[in-house]
Amino acid sequence: MLALAHAEHVRFLRLQFTDILGVNKNVEVPASQFAKALAGDIMFDGSAIEGFVRTEESDMLLQPDLATFRVLPWGDPDARVARVICDITMPDGTPFAGDPRAVLKRQIARAAASGYTMMAGMEAEFFLFRPAPDGRPTTQTHDVGGYFDLAPVDLGEDARRAMVDLLQRMGFEIEAAHHEVAHGQHEIDFRYADALTTADNLATFRWVVKHVARQFGLVASFMPKPIFGQNGSGMHTHQSLFRDGQNAFLDEAAEWRLSRTALHYIGGLLRHGRGLCAVTNPLVNSYKRLVPGYEAPVNVAWSMRNRSPMIRVPDRRGAGTRVELRLPDPAANPYLALAVMLAAGMDGVETQADWREPVNQNIWEMSYRERRRLRIDDLPQDLNEACDELEKDDVIQAALGEHVATHYLAAKRQEWRDYVTQVSQWELDQYLAKY
Ligand code: GLU
Ligand code: MG
Ligand code: MG
Repeated sequence: MLALAHAEHVRFLRLQFTDILGVNKNVEVPASQFAKALAGDIMFDGSAIEGFVRTEESDMLLQPDLATFRVLPWGDPDARVARVICDITMPDGTPFAGDPRAVLKRQIARAAASGYTMMAGMEAEFFLFRPAPDGRPTTQTHDVGGYFDLAPVDLGEDARRAMVDLLQRMGFEIEAAHHEVAHGQHEIDFRYADALTTADNLATFRWVVKHVARQFGLVASFMPKPIFGQNGSGMHTHQSLFRDGQNAFLDEAAEWRLSRTALHYIGGLLRHGRGLCAVTNPLVNSYKRLVPGYEAPVNVAWSMRNRSPMIRVPDRRGAGTRVELRLPDPAANPYLALAVMLAAGMDGVETQADWREPVNQNIWEMSYRERRRLRIDDLPQDLNEACDELEKDDVIQAALGEHVATHYLAAKRQEWRDYVTQVSQWELDQYLAKY
């Protein structure tokens, strides 16, 4: 690694990690410190990882995962910057309970103990906006294109192509890139992998997309619902379990060619859909995406093809047999989101959860009574309700671990309190003159 860094003229190394709210963080070290950094000897103030409050200074170590070492394909070729994603440990070498990557690794190990490996692919949608003259983002989109539109060559299309190019040079296998339904909305899909690789990739993806957008004079945003009246941005997560190198969701002889494992996994996602929502849909704004009419789920149900329920089973079998959870949005912490999804699915597999019947009608058009008859629950209506549901769900809380669950809930409750005490423009428009 040191020889490679030398050969590629790497002058700075960024030691990256993600805080519990999913924000990328890094400590940068110059070449003189590379050997020390790669040996896991760089100490930093671990309270940076709580994401919202600096408690007392606490010494932690950054342990690089060498498989994630990448030389960044931009900047000065004679003074390159590289990055490596790190685990966080206490000074005695034990994993830090507040490290989201450690939370995901724990769930991966738990599934491995039963012989399963989770494979996951995440489709993170995003918007490209024009900045105001002072550089702050606006919600003015760069185009008025729609789904798969072949827009006249514009800034957005060029930026998207540059994103794909840089991501490929960082080792991503890009499968497709296209314009999404809303104005200025895009999607770039990269190949699925094991859960840890996919979480690392997603963290890198958001960072590269924002970097490239800035170079094109645009601002990329992964905010779940930036524009009223238009589709929001989802982060559909395709997932399956492998066992002995084979897809354990496939059973050629069974109904729908789905194995019992797949159905119980679906049962687990249904059982914990309300409880894991605060993690997969982490913002006040996330719940403005989960409303009828914008291709985002509103109910806890599954389907073979319909796009309104929370889970869809794509029409792919063989090694690609999988379920697609359409709930998450791209503001989620990818490590925690994958950890709770895996925990929910594994709980379903271990307890042989009931998967109910798939719903192939449009749920948005059903009456409340009809939904009750089919035992179709509603997803939480707002972040506060989602926090209540998380507090009620022992499986999801245990997956996060006490440290992360406590800090996460405290941060999210605070976010909610800040929000509900605001007086919005909508209220002024509705009430000021009338009352
Ligand atoms: N943007 C939609 C959402 O909020 C999803 C559109 C799609 O099916 O790709 O989840
Ligand atoms: Mg999409
Ligand atoms: Mg999708």
